[in-house]
Amino acid sequence: MDTAALPTQALARELIARRSITPDDAGCQALLAERLAPLGFQCETLVVNGVTNLWARRGTARPLVCFAGHTDVVPTGPVAAWQSDPFVPTLRDGCLYGRGAADMKSSLAAFVIAIEAFLAAHPGAPGSIALIITSDEEGPSVDGTAKIVERLAAAGETIDYCVVGEPSSVENLGDMIKNGRRGTLSGTLTVIGVQGHIAYPHLARNPIHLARAGHRRTGGTRSGTRATSTFRRPPGSAPTSTPEPAPTT
Ligand SMILES: [Zn+2]
Repeated sequence: MDTAALPTQALARELIARRSITPDDAGCQALLAERLAPLGFQCETLVVNGVTNLWARRGTARPLVCFAGHTDVVPTGPVAAWQSDPFVPTLRDGCLYGRGAADMKSSLAAFVIAIEAFLAAHPGAPGSIALIITSDEEGPSVDGTAKIVERLAAAGETIDYCVVGEPSSVENLGDMIKNGRRGTLSGTLTVIGVQGHIAYPHLARNPIHLARAGHRRTGGTRSGTRATSTFRRPPGSAPTSTPEPAPTT
């Protein structure tokens, strides 16, 4: 493993060892705050209905660059089906195994190590840095990031740039970066048909058939992927950016 990755791996291991199954944070955020406070971060913990959230900010100037992520992990399923204990971080064949190694405790570790390295190299950098971390991303997700964002909005705080640490690589680290993410539209669709006799189907209007047509018009099950803008770059090339493709209808 790349030696530059070792501090990140060490912190990721500490996080993976904490059994933070949604909505339990299991001390992960306290560990992050412990690392961030000496760097000048003001760390606020907001507990809502058993969900633990961390808002940490260093500085007050704009622009504000924010890192967003979650400390919770989904349940492990049968532990016997794992090759190693999911809460004992284990290195095998150059890969780190454990619940949350991919989604997304390694990302949280990378946030902290990148911030430490950046501030060591640029102690007087303009602007400010923040983190929004929740313990309820894998669950209902109503008392987590949304609550912090509501508070920020009420205080008139605006985030200029945000990096979300969700894993998006396909084969190699950094081979895919997603610019934005799908949204959700919820609603109630009422489809009114016309009753008829089975012998005269042409005189009836089957609401199931009509609903199918409506489903197609709203994009059906593909709407999520349509709204996701992704790009892949060849290994070794510099990160770049592509404009959001025009939505198809
Ligand atoms: Zn995730």
